[in-house]
Amino acid sequence: MSGRIENGAGPTGRHAAGLFAAAAAMNRDSNGNALHAPVLVLNASYEPINVCAARRALVLVLKGVAMTEEENGHFLHAARIAMRVPSVIRLLEYRRIPHQSRALSRKNILLRDRNTCQYCATVLPSGELTLDHVIPRSRGGSSTWENLVACCHPCNRRKGNQFPLEVGMKLMREPRAFNLHTSRHIMRLMGRSDDKWRKYLFY
Ligand SMILES: [Zn+2]
Repeated sequence: MSGRIENGAGPTGRHAAGLFAAAAAMNRDSNGNALHAPVLVLNASYEPINVCAARRALVLVLKGVAMTEEENGHFLHAARIAMRVPSVIRLLEYRRIPHQSRALSRKNILLRDRNTCQYCATVLPSGELTLDHVIPRSRGGSSTWENLVACCHPCNRRKGNQFPLEVGMKLMREPRAFNLHTSRHIMRLMGRSDDKWRKYLFY
């Protein structure tokens, strides 16, 4: 999804610097799970536009780019400061989101394919998936929404530089560009586990 929401001025004092460092440090320790929790990002108009990790949401709030709308019940502790971890944030400035032209990226392909290998239907964490060119690059396949799919490593090895049919493999579904409908659907799926997201997603 649009990753261009990090620019903008924000607080730069020692507090903010300390929290930035703490956010970075917490990412590495066992208490950092709360900082990996998904956070719903709303446009200034309250339209849901993205999902990001809590750590990134905190940085956006600290930079003054977004404000917390809902909290997830966890605290980030840094020195003598405690900061509530958000569950929903809202951008302070309206961003025009070109829904029909989402950035082609590994993250977005995995989101579109819901972290599911498109050949064997195994659901895996992002780190255990790779991207497969349906028509291999060596045979003229391009890096486009329609030619890239999430793929597990065993299927990727099996397929090699061949067309799926040549090795008896079949795609679960035709890969398509990521559109507004797809991303809204994904946000709803993710939001099922978080009551605080509901009022922004189910209307
Ligand atoms: Zn597979």
